[in-house]
Amino acid sequence: MMTELPAFESFCHQYSSEQACAEALFHARWPDGFRCPTCRHSHYYLTRTRRMPLYECRSCRVQTSVIAGTIMEGSSTPLTRWFQALFLIASPSGISSSKLSKIIQVTYKTAWLIARKIRHVMQRADQYDPLSGLVRVNHMKYGYSYYQDAQQPLLIGGAFTASAQNIPSTDLIGSMSSTKTEESRPQLNNRIPTQA
Ligand SMILES: [Zn+2]
Repeated sequence: MMTELPAFESFCHQYSSEQACAEALFHARWPDGFRCPTCRHSHYYLTRTRRMPLYECRSCRVQTSVIAGTIMEGSSTPLTRWFQALFLIASPSGISSSKLSKIIQVTYKTAWLIARKIRHVMQRADQYDPLSGLVRVNHMKYGYSYYQDAQQPLLIGGAFTASAQNIPSTDLIGSMSSTKTEESRPQLNNRIPTQA
């Protein structure tokens, strides 16, 4: 974790406000500009009276937000803390829920829930997007180190592709897509490409 601190600080600086996070989510969600999730119309009315900007389709009037349908929907935790959690959980060394709660300053229960949701979507994404190219896998453990049976084995794998190397470490989407966390053993052989 120590070696990742400068990158984490720089990430926090980049996403230090709700607006910065919402803008990042907007561009991740609609890289070619707004598209209504119902009718694909590209024009909208913007409502800023709520905590989260609301986008209302000018054609079918359906309202949506940048977090609609994501693990952040319905959460009262600020986006800045969600982003920090995403960075820390997706980092190669991972993080425990109790440490996460201290760093992002939420209760242990909230940190545990956030971590659980993030790990769940990362695992789901891994199922449909297996690592390819040059893959490096490290064996690690997570969990409370004082009790051996509380520790869970982990394989942390990363794909080092030309495009992934060009993504700055502070880029949220880049760090999410180039780092994978997965339970130990079952798929190790499938995740290391054979030499052609
Ligand atoms: Zn629409």
